[in-house]
Amino acid sequence: MTARLELAYLGFEVSDRPAWDRLLTQVIGMMPGSHNSDGSQGYRLDEFAQRMFVREGTADDVCAVGLAAYDRAEFDALCARLRGAGIEPQAGTPDELRARHVDHLVRFKDPWGHPLELCLGLKTSPTPFGSAVQSNGFVTGDMGMGHLILVMPDLEAAVPFYTDVIGMSVSDTGAEEWAGIVLSAVFLYCNPRHHSIALAGGVPAVKRIAHFEVHMPSIDDVGLAWDRTRSAGIEVTHMPGRHTEGVYSFYGRTPSGFEYEVGTEGFRVDENWRQRHLSRFTLWGHHVPTPAEAG
Ligand code: FE
Repeated sequence: MTARLELAYLGFEVSDRPAWDRLLTQVIGMMPGSHNSDGSQGYRLDEFAQRMFVREGTADDVCAVGLAAYDRAEFDALCARLRGAGIEPQAGTPDELRARHVDHLVRFKDPWGHPLELCLGLKTSPTPFGSAVQSNGFVTGDMGMGHLILVMPDLEAAVPFYTDVIGMSVSDTGAEEWAGIVLSAVFLYCNPRHHSIALAGGVPAVKRIAHFEVHMPSIDDVGLAWDRTRSAGIEVTHMPGRHTEGVYSFYGRTPSGFEYEVGTEGFRVDENWRQRHLSRFTLWGHHVPTPAEAG
């Protein structure tokens, strides 16, 4: 049975905080959140107090993948499955609970070192959400804050951990040859979003994350984010296109080297979803910009 979880928040350790602040607020359109006691800066996507945070550091990589349990039973059941797998979840300190804006928190790492957190009781903000540039906001609701792709040194071994221990289900698998290497992916869901986490194999494991995605209500919203990306002079890594899981999106380069994706639409999964094997990840578009397109 699929655990009832959502991707609640993401944290990044970054070396260029001003550039990240510009990307998140002026290009993607998040709302600045609070300056936290641990030195991190929060960002908002919706009514919740924090959906993303960045902290100063040299890793330039993801430092927290925050999963929220739907209720106490799910929280306790996942902690029990971790202990059964020989992983002792570390209880969050009062300072950490404040910095993450949650009621309950445990931290743990998957067997490949990816920093995961499980929370319960994500706090809403006392003030309404408002974005300076993305007035229609973001699609979160029952689908969490978006998705991310984790780079796995051993994809085959990683899947049972994310299904049997974390409790996610496979929506699709896929493999596609790309510039001479076979890129493999396993898409995992835990709510109606087609994938909250995807695991990637065949990618050089330089970073723990390949990209994160935020979801907007319409193609026009994505188009406006595209225009902001272009006018900000940010490197486009994949041109606009339609994925075979239905998402229309484009990709740009974050100041930390990995990518961000701004998307809309995409399939919702439910108990009738049939797992597929995708022989290509993109229906059209999403190519690396030509020199002329790169401008
Ligand atoms: Fe994606």
